[in-house]
This record gives sequence, C-alpha cells and structure tokens, in this order.
Amino acid sequence: MKQIGILGSTGSIGTQAISIVENNRDKYFIDFLTAGTNWESLLEQAIRLGVKKIGIADISVSDKLISNTPDYIEVYTGMDAICELVRESQADLILAAIVGFAGVMPTFTAIDSGKSIALANKESLVSAGELIMNHAQTKGIDIIAVDSEHSAILQCLAGETTDAVEKLILTASGGPFRTWDKSKFGSISITEALKHPNWSMGNKITIDSATLMNKGLEVIEAKWLFDMGANKIDVVVHPQSIIHSMVQFRDGSVKAQLGIPEMSVPIAYALAYPRRIAMTGSRIDLTETSRLDFEKPDYEKFPCLNIAFESLKSGSGYCNAMNAANEIAVAAFLNSRIRFTEISTTIEHVLQERDWANVTTMESIIVTDNLARKSAHNYISSLDK
Ligand code: NAD
Ligand code: MG
Repeated sequence: MKQIGILGSTGSIGTQAISIVENNRDKYFIDFLTAGTNWESLLEQAIRLGVKKIGIADISVSDKLISNTPDYIEVYTGMDAICELVRESQADLILAAIVGFAGVMPTFTAIDSGKSIALANKESLVSAGELIMNHAQTKGIDIIAVDSEHSAILQCLAGETTDAVEKLILTASGGPFRTWDKSKFGSISITEALKHPNWSMGNKITIDSATLMNKGLEVIEAKWLFDMGANKIDVVVHPQSIIHSMVQFRDGSVKAQLGIPEMSVPIAYALAYPRRIAMTGSRIDLTETSRLDFEKPDYEKFPCLNIAFESLKSGSGYCNAMNAANEIAVAAFLNSRIRFTEISTTIEHVLQERDWANVTTMESIIVTDNLARKSAHNYISSLDK
C-alpha cells in the first residue's frame, strides 16, 4: 500500500487522482487532502474516502469547514498549518496539484520532510526550480512529473542514459486560437479562451494554454526536471495532442509517447512510478486518428512562449517574476479587467521594469514573487485609467 497526500484535491488534477485511488483501493491509501477555498468538496471527499486529516488554505472559510466536520477528521487551517500537516504526514508520496505559486511552500516542505513528489504544480519549478531541485537532490527525493509532456519524456527516457540525449521535443496543441487571425486576438472572450480543443483542465492552465504561456512554463519545467539547457528544448505544435512529447538521442533516433489526451494516464503513471497500473479509459485507434500534424509555433501571434524562452536565458529571477506577472494577468483577464492580448503586455512590462536578480533562497523567491505581483497590479490599474 502506498500512502498518498494530495495538495489541491478539489481541482482538476486532484479529483482525477482521487478517482484513480478509488479504483485501486488495494494499492493506495490517502493520508490527507487539502484545498484552497472549496471546503464543501474537500469535506465531501474526506468523508467519502475515510480520510482523517484535511487542510484548507483560505482561513475565511475555516469556521464553516470546522463546524461541519465530524470529530474523527482533523482540520488544518491556513497555509502554515497545511505545511505542518505535510511535514507530520507519514505519506510516501505527495501529489502537488495546487495551482500557481501557492504550491511552492507545501511542495518544498514535502521534499524537506523526505517525501517523494508527483508534481503537477509546474509553477513551483518555474518560480523556484533551482532551490527545489537542489533540495530534492540533497534529500534523495524523486520528483515525478505529472504534466503530460514531462511524463512522456520520463517514459521515453526509461532505460536510457542522460549523455545519450540530444534534445527534448515538447509538443503543444496550439490552443483554441492557433488558426485565428491575429487581428481578432484583442476581442477574444473569456468563454472562447476557456474552450480548449483537446484537454479539460482548471481555468488558469486553460488560459495559459490559449496564450501558449503553458508551453513556456513547461519548457522551464523541463529544464529543471531533466537538467537540460534551453537550447536543447524544442517546441513543436501538434494539434491532435496524440504524441505527448519526444526525446531525440545522439544517434538520431527519436522516441515518442502516444495516447489519448487524458490526464488520468500521466497521473496514474506518476502514482505507480516506476510501474504501471491497469487503466480502463479509451485507447487510441490510429486508423481513426489517421493524421498526425506538426508545425512551428507562431511566436509573433503568441508572444508568451518567447517571453518564457527569454526569461529562461535571463535567469531564475526573470522566470520567478514572469510566473507571478502571468498569474496576476490571467486572473485579471478572467475578471474582465484586461484583454487577452494584454496578458503578454503585462508580463513584458513587469520584466522590463527592473533587473530581476537571480533567486536562490526561499526568502528571495517570495520577495521577487511579491514585487512582480505588485508591478503587474500597478500596470493593470494604469490600463483602467
Ligand atoms: P484547479 O484550479 O482545477 O485546482 C487547483 C487546486 O488547488 C484546487 O484544489 C484548489 O482548491 C487548490 N488551490 C487553489 N489556490 C490555492 C491556494 N492559494 N492555496 C492552496 N490551495 C489552492 O487546477 P488544475 O487544473 O488541477 O491544475 C493544478 C496544477 O496542475 C497546475 O499547476 C497546473 O498547471 C498543473 N497541470 C494541470 C493539468 C490539468 O489537466 N488540469 C495538466 C498538467 C498540469
Ligand atoms: Mg502539459
């Protein structure tokens, strides 16, 4: 039996992970669950699964949660308490499925307390990749990718040596606006941006996929997970999302991992790693698919991808600030405060506003994140006027 703790259990990744656990009760046991604000779903999950420890980050809902929770369930309120819960837990594996920078502290705490990580929360590597990977190495902790592209790469790397790898090729669906004319981008609605052609995911990552910032975040995530320079990571647009990513080796051979675009598969792979468990979902029928298309990303139409490559070259402070600015800009777009095209201009403004020095300690990472958030807020307020 593997004991699992789930950070962000009420989200898209969290709920899919819970379904996998429910179908494999003989293999997995859930030690704790945590959520941001949605206390009702969190409590429902805990009661249904017999989980005895839960954490809620948003303290404004903690009274409601506590008064509705049966005595046999212990409630941890606020992010500090969630980190305490992670530290005390006996779990073998922590699924890091919180969205955004909020996932950095609990993920770092899990590593610090010696637990393996199944990592969905890519923003933690974008903001704090060096610190997290160094600490994981010091502690001898595995960080297993959940993101479909990184899971594909991990699967392609099985049985290979690092010196044999020439480059990583990340595939991108291109999002809902791949074929749109750029002149229409200024009037993209929230509903249009939330309609991903192939994947069903949480709102933030769906917008990131529409701007291609998601691919940018994934390039940085790949750099840290697989210790690769930016010049050894390529992005190719593959609209069918059947090939989840590829690895090219020094003899010219290329390995790809294929499957239907369904996150439950890479989640299951991360939970069972290095083994595989049986999954009953649909299978690809290549005769039905018939075509696999590939094209170069359009950096002019989707400036966020370029911003991410440039940030990676500029250093860890730029990646950290870029992530924070993106989080604020995406939230502002979802609140109808800025246009779709202003997501990238907000990030560019924040990155140009100052020199973002390299960040190697948790304190400096938090300071940079806060500064970039403030800068993005100020810029967005100036657009309102
Ligand atoms: P989501 O919005 O559906 O769920 C996020 C979870 O985090 C929820 O449980 C929420 O309660 C919790 N949360 C939100 N803010 C919080 C805060 N401030 N403090 C504590 N908890 C908080 O997001 P998602 O789509 O499941 O994505 C989760 C992570 O996985 C993201 O980093 C995303 O990029 C990554 N990811 C998601 C998918 C996908 O298919 N959804 C695929 C690949 C990677
Ligand atoms: Mg992905």
